[in-house]
Amino acid sequence: MVKVRLASRILEANEKIAERNRKFFQDKGIFVINLMSSPGSGKTSILERTISRLSGETPLAVIEGDIYTSQDAERIEQKGAPVVQINTSGACHLDAHMVEEALGDLDLDKIKLLVIENVGNLVCPAEFDLGEDAKVAVLSTTEGNDKPMKYPLVFRQSQAVLVNKIDLLAHTDFDLDVLRRDVHLINPELKIFEVSARTNEGFEPWCQWLAEQVRNKAAAV
Ligand code: MG
Ligand code: ZN
Repeated sequence: MVKVRLASRILEANEKIAERNRKFFQDKGIFVINLMSSPGSGKTSILERTISRLSGETPLAVIEGDIYTSQDAERIEQKGAPVVQINTSGACHLDAHMVEEALGDLDLDKIKLLVIENVGNLVCPAEFDLGEDAKVAVLSTTEGNDKPMKYPLVFRQSQAVLVNKIDLLAHTDFDLDVLRRDVHLINPELKIFEVSARTNEGFEPWCQWLAEQVRNKAAAV
């Protein structure tokens, strides 16, 4: 019982800070995505491709969440985007307070899009609201198509899912039709983008969708 009460209190406290973050992003007209996946599905590689396509027209910044290391932040920095690395020192997800603290290290008056790359984990990141506008899930063909049914919360809450490593589809048992069916059973509204961060295919529709969300948010201020 004590554990359950503690968990719900942690989530309640997180929700308050997430609302504060959301209000802050709203006032500045910044569209924020929370990028979630299991480790190794290609979040950072997708982000590198996305930055290359968008950064000319859409000023953006990145918050990188990892348990340890700043390797991913260094990759983003090489793409020329402002980036802050959060090391959770063991924690398997980002929370709203970590994001709030990281915001102080970014010049937010200059950006219209903030991408928060969560810790590679399909379970608890979905439980912790960061104040984002949209959750985006990444799934790769090498992981198998059973992830949505096994981890439905991430897919229920997301607005988009990127199916990465689509270039490897023929070499795997990944069933794209089953994936589409399962995903839409869980969340009929979910947008599916098939991409390969390795070959660069499929990025146009994804980046168009993202840029449109950014424009809509900026226009609403
Ligand atoms: Mg990464
Ligand atoms: Zn966690």
